Amino acid sequence: MKNYAKHLLFFAAAIMIATASMAQVKLKKASAAKKQQPAKQEAAPININMGTTGQKGDKTLYADEWTVPASTLKFMQLPYAYDALEPVIDKLTVEIHYSRHHRAYYDNFLKAIAGTDMEKMNIYDIFFKISDLPAAVRNNAGGYFNHALYWHNMSQKGGGNPSGELARAIDRTFGSFDEFKKRFDDAAKTRFGSGWAWLAVDLKSGELFVSSTANQDNPLMNTESNRGFPILGIDVWEHAYYLKYQNKRADYVESFWKIINWNDVEARYTHFLQTREKFLR
Ligand code: MN
Repeated sequence: MKNYAKHLLFFAAAIMIATASMAQVKLKKASAAKKQQPAKQEAAPININMGTTGQKGDKTLYADEWTVPASTLKFMQLPYAYDALEPVIDKLTVEIHYSRHHRAYYDNFLKAIAGTDMEKMNIYDIFFKISDLPAAVRNNAGGYFNHALYWHNMSQKGGGNPSGELARAIDRTFGSFDEFKKRFDDAAKTRFGSGWAWLAVDLKSGELFVSSTANQDNPLMNTESNRGFPILGIDVWEHAYYLKYQNKRADYVESFWKIINWNDVEARYTHFLQTREKFLR
């Protein structure tokens, strides 16, 4: 009888342990399932910032289509395949540059404005008072915007010369296309360290100018002495060219001319002139 009670007790204890460990397994499974769910949803491709030139159907980023609250900005789709710019810019460079660098600027920009008044501001108003804002906003808002422009500035069907109103404005401002090219090249090649070179439209006068900026700054920022809306930009950070060109930035800058999407640059130029009053403060 004593032995029987002992067995019963042992049996009961075994059941309790088994039940407890099964419950633990269930808990673990539940938390594993939770972990497997994506932390956040992939950003949908941008649509609000896209338009078409109407001429050849190329996608263009128009100035007045960025005037939405910053928190609603989306991570834009690359307007072509990763290998579309070969051989000027190799597939791996485009892939890493877009999916890692550009993506990180976008994610960190939204993180930097989360829970602040900047969520409701549009990106231009953020640039126009950038000197008062945290460095994380300056670097990441700039990085997000600049790269969106850069991708659209290039096309496998690019190269050649601009035409129409933009060509006339370039001649008027710089004397000739060759003189403009020389100034833009100089700006890109002589920017020390990481940064950008730009062709931009003066916000007040509407005239073209060439400038270069450090880091992820751009001519819209109130920290710049040349203030304007950028219509063409070249990224001269080493990550933009190092895999193929290594230290030879000048070769990358020279090759860039073969893929400039002048349709995009021209469309942004004429559209900006038509909506310029929205950018005067
Ligand atoms: Mn870059």
